[in-house]
This record gives sequence, structure tokens and C-alpha cells, in this order.
Amino acid sequence: MTGELTSVPNVEPSQVKISQSSTPKPPPDASSLVFGHTFTDHMLTIPWSSGSGWGAPEIKPYSPIVLDPSATVFHYAQGLFEGLKAYRDANGRITLFRPDMNMKRMNNSAARLALPTFNGDAVIELIKQLIRMDKHWIPDKEGYSLYIRPTMIGTQAALGIAPPSQALLFVICSPVGPYYPQGFKPVALYGTTEYSRAAPGGIGAYKLGANYAPGVLIQKEAAKKGYVQNLWLHGPEHYVTEVGTMNAFVVFKHPNGVTELVTPPLDGMILPGITRDSVLSLARDHASGKSPLAGMPEGKFEVNERPVTMKEVKKAAEEGNLVEFFGTGTAAVISPVDRIGYLGTDVHIPTGPDGMGPVSRAVWKQLVGIQTGKIDHPWSVVV
Ligand code: PMP
Repeated sequence: MTGELTSVPNVEPSQVKISQSSTPKPPPDASSLVFGHTFTDHMLTIPWSSGSGWGAPEIKPYSPIVLDPSATVFHYAQGLFEGLKAYRDANGRITLFRPDMNMKRMNNSAARLALPTFNGDAVIELIKQLIRMDKHWIPDKEGYSLYIRPTMIGTQAALGIAPPSQALLFVICSPVGPYYPQGFKPVALYGTTEYSRAAPGGIGAYKLGANYAPGVLIQKEAAKKGYVQNLWLHGPEHYVTEVGTMNAFVVFKHPNGVTELVTPPLDGMILPGITRDSVLSLARDHASGKSPLAGMPEGKFEVNERPVTMKEVKKAAEEGNLVEFFGTGTAAVISPVDRIGYLGTDVHIPTGPDGMGPVSRAVWKQLVGIQTGKIDHPWSVVV
């Protein structure tokens, strides 16, 4: 979906109005950064109205957005967002990782909320312009990057549940450090059966703000029990769905010698993660022999998108057939898991001395190599 649903003017990068901040801030010392707490000097805004379509984009000083208290986003959660990163490579080149995938997902989210869709390539072009203005905010240190947060909200000043006649697309940027500054630290998950993150026919496959607010309390409950995140288990079968706000992957070593990488299928309850898609693609290229990854387990390797229950994971752990369990997402890339609390007992998951397992370690090296420009790949898009 790239904007064919809007018959009125689409986003037009050539109309951009640029105003520089007259009070630019010095970027803070990289070591003091807390994820998502610091923002760069500028932002991108693009207004939309049902009568005249997408208006002129603006790149302007980062500043509050003034909205009417009746704006629909405040009442009916007409809001959605994306998250992607810009990296600085060893030659000073700045790149984005698969931004077309974020724009595609954002358009799908917009369509689901009856918010306007847009030309994704045009918004990528404008995001590049914004990054070029604030590129000195990307810390010149290994593992650091600029987190980019495209957002869309319904802004019509009217109560009433309907497609809003006015909306705003905006993009802000935040310099961020490595998720695991001291090396990988495996996390403990609470296998959550009392609450659902998503349901069949629901909105779990879309990146809507409405999916996240209800998870905060549930994560706090898991933390009280001594776990870092929820492992969302669905239905009476306790299907593995997602790890907090990451996609879930399991690696089995079957008695027939096959190593199997498994992630739940995109059945409408799973967010189609861009890291998930990238891990699957790299693993499949290894499995087919097209592009073998260094350090992977010996022997036959299979990659499957299939339902997997927590009972299967527990049984494999008990029988010594579980190789690893990990989450994937833009913020942490890969997050290894060493323990899952499940129905009153802890399932223990093997991790190597570096905190990772053999499959996630091999895939992580390749993925981060591509993201940081050490490995040339079409997924990396020059800003
Ligand atoms: N699942 C959920 C619920 C998420 O919020 C995210 C983060 N966007 C992911 C999975 C991972 O997606 P991605 O790899 O695109 O960051």
C-alpha cells in the first residue's frame, strides 16, 4: 500500500518548507543517553485533511504540537507509530535499515484505523532530509544509532467515532546507545496465560498505540514476580506469540539431528517485525546454502514459520532438545532468553558464555554487520 487509497494530493517532498532551529542544542555525551529520552533539534510534520489531502511537509524545530482537547487521538486512540534506526558507518556514511518495510507497515496500520495512507517513498525522502539536518546527533561510537519515530494521529476536533477529517504525520529522532552495553544479558520471561496481547481478528498485527498501553500494567506484574518481560501465550494451547514487544524465535535440536529455527506465523496476532523478516531471510539463505553463515550448528538446518506451544518448548527443554529462545526487534536486535516462568515452574534455556546461542549469535553478527555498513547489502539505504 503506497498511497493509492488517497485520491487527493499525496505527500510531495518538493514542497517541503524548512526552518532551522535558532537555538540548536549541543548533543549530549553519548554515555549518558537513556533510550528515547533525548530528541534532536528538528522534526518533520505533514498535515492531512480529507478535503485537500496531504499538505506541504515541514522540517522545523522540535517543538510541542498544539491540539484541540477534542482531537480524536485523545479519545479514540487514533494513533499509530513506527520505529527504525539510522546508523553511521566507519566511513561516516549514514544509512537506514529497510525503511521501505516501515513505510509499508505504517500504511497498513493507517488503513486499519481509517487514517490516510501515503506515498512511502516520499516520506522516506523527507526522513532522509531530516536526518541530514540532525546527523551530528548520531553518536560516533560503536553500537550507537539514531532511533526514528514516525507517527500518525487523528487531529480532527470533534467527538464521534468516525474516520477523522484531519490527521498529522510527524517524525522525531532520538540518539540511542547499544541495548546491551556490557554484552548480551539474557532475560527471564513470565509465560503469561492470564492476559492476552492480541486476539484472532484483533489488531495485534498492526503497530497501533492501542496495542501498547494495556501491556504496561501486565509487564509490571511480571516484574513483581521477578521476570523482565511477558511471554504472551495464546489460547488454551498456550501458543507462543511474542516476547514483550519483540517477535519470538525458538531453536530445537530434534532427535533426528535436524536443527529447527521456529517463529510463529503471521496469523493476524503477530506484529510483522522487520527484524523477524530479516532473521528469517538470513536463516533461509543459510539453510538453502545460498549464503552460509559462519558459526552455525553443524548438520541439517530448517527454518519454519509454524505454531509452537509452550508445552513443546518445555518438553524440549526437559529432554535436552532446546537449543535457544530469543526475541527480535529494532531496539535490541536480538534478545536472548535464559528462563521462562510457566505455570508455577521455571523452564531453563541454554545460553553460551556470551549470553547467546549458536543460531542467534551467527544471525546477529550478519544482521548487525549489514545494519552498520560493515557488510554491503541492499537492505542498507544511504541517507
Ligand atoms: N512485536 C511488537 C509488539 C513490537 O512492538 C515490535 C517493535 N516494533 C516488534 C515485534 C519487532 O518489530 P521490528 O523488528 O520491526 O522492530
